[in-house]
Amino acid sequence: MALITKKIKGTEDVLPRQSYRWQFIEGVMREEAKAYGFKEIRTPVFEHTELFARGVGQTTDVVQKEMYTFDTKGGESVTLRPEGTAGAARAVLEHNLENEGLPIKASYFVSCYRYEKPQAGRLREFHQFGLEEYGTQSPVADAELICAAQSILDRLGLDKVRLEINSIGCPECRAKYNQALRDYFGGYRGQLCTTCLSRLEKNPMRLLDCKSPEDKAIAKDAPKITDYLCEECEAHFAEVQKYLGCAGVEYTVNPTIVRGLDYYTKTVFEFVTDCIGAQGTVCGGGRYDGLMEELGGKHTPSLGFAMGLERLLMVMDAQGIEIPDTSSCALYIATMGDEAKAKAFELLKRVRECGLTAETDVVGRGLRAQMKYADKIGARYSMVLGDNEIAENKAKVKNMESGEQTELALDESFAEKFSVLQLASDKAFGI
Ligand code: ATP
Ligand code: MG
Repeated sequence: MALITKKIKGTEDVLPRQSYRWQFIEGVMREEAKAYGFKEIRTPVFEHTELFARGVGQTTDVVQKEMYTFDTKGGESVTLRPEGTAGAARAVLEHNLENEGLPIKASYFVSCYRYEKPQAGRLREFHQFGLEEYGTQSPVADAELICAAQSILDRLGLDKVRLEINSIGCPECRAKYNQALRDYFGGYRGQLCTTCLSRLEKNPMRLLDCKSPEDKAIAKDAPKITDYLCEECEAHFAEVQKYLGCAGVEYTVNPTIVRGLDYYTKTVFEFVTDCIGAQGTVCGGGRYDGLMEELGGKHTPSLGFAMGLERLLMVMDAQGIEIPDTSSCALYIATMGDEAKAKAFELLKRVRECGLTAETDVVGRGLRAQMKYADKIGARYSMVLGDNEIAENKAKVKNMESGEQTELALDESFAEKFSVLQLASDKAFGI
C-alpha cells in the first residue's frame, strides 16, 4: 500500500484505543478547574502575529525561533498559537471581562505549535491545559493557583514530581539583577554558547535557562535573584510560601527558575520529574503582572500556569499508573436470525439509555466471528440471542472474564438488571 502522505514530523495521532487516556486526564483537569472556580475559555488556533511577539516576548526562544508564522491571502501575518496565555489575555481584554468582576478566572485546553527539534517530550504540535487568573495581586492567588496544579497532579496519581518555586521580582529588582548577571556572565564570554552571547545584553536572565551543559555549569554560581528582590517582592514571595505551607504543599525554592516568557514577574514555578528524561517539566507557570498592559490593556496583575498533556501521559506511563478504560464495551449481543437481531436492537437502545456502552453485529458476521469480535473489543459481558432465547423470552449474559453466567428476562427490566449486574463487576475491573 502506498499512502500518498504521512503525518507531519513532530505531530502525533491519538487513536480510538488510546483516547480514553486523554479523556481521563482532561476529566480530572476539568473537575479541579471547576472546584477552584475557573470557567473554560476557547480561543482561535491562530492569531495576529504581533499578539505573540508582544504577549510571549520578543527575546524568547518561542518568538525568535519556534513560531509557525505565515501570510494570509489578504497579506496579514498570522501565527499558530505557541501557547495559551496570550490568546486568553487578548480575549479577556477584547471583551472587557474586567467589567464582570475581578478576578477573572479562565481555564483552557489548547493545541500548541512550536517549530522545535522533535524528540521525546518535545513535539511540534502538543497540547496544554492551563489556568489563568486576571486582576489580583494578592499572594493568596499565587498559592491557590499552585495548589490547583498540585491537586491535579495528585489526582492523576503522579509520584516524585517536585514543585520548585522562585520569585523573579518586579522590573525594578530585575534591572539591578540583570546588571549583576551581565557583570557575572561577561567574565565568561569566551565560554558561552552563541545564543547566550546574544542574550547577554538583551535578556541576561535567559542565560539561567540555557540547556547546554557548559553554560549550565557557569550558571550554577551566578548571582541569585532572591538576593536582589525589593522589599515588596520579598514580602510577596514570603506570603506565597506561607499559604503553600497552610495547604501542606511541599516545595523547594530554586533561584535558577526563570521561565521562558518575558512578562513573568514575582512568582514563577515548575513541577518537574526525572522519570521521562531531559524534558521533565510537566507544568510551568507564574505571575505576569505586566502582560495585560503590554497588550494594550490597563495594568492588571495576573497569573497562570500551563501543563503539557503529552508529558503528563508520559510520566503516567513511566510510573505504571493505570488509567481506567471506561470506554470499553459493557455488553455485546451476538445474534442468530432476524428476530434476534430485531430484539437485540430494541434491548441495546435501553441499555445505552442507562449510560452503558453496548454493541451488536452491524457487519453481518456469523456467530463465531461475532464472538471473536466481542473478545477483540474487550467486551465485559456478552449475550447470545437465537430462536430459543426469543421463544423463552430470557437469555444468559456472560461475564467474559470469569465465565460466570446470569439469566435475565428479555423484557423492560433487562437494561436495569444488566446495569446493576455490571456495576458490581466494574468495581472489580477498577472502573
Ligand atoms: P521547555 O523548557 O521544556 O521547553 P517551556 O518553558 O518552553 O518548556 P512552556 O511554554 O512553559 O514550556 O509550556 C508549558 C508546558 O508545556 C511545559 O512545561 C511542557 O510540559 C509543555 N511543553 C512545552 N513545549 C512542549 C513541546 N514542544 N512538546 C510537548 N510539550 C511541551
Ligand atoms: Mg520550550
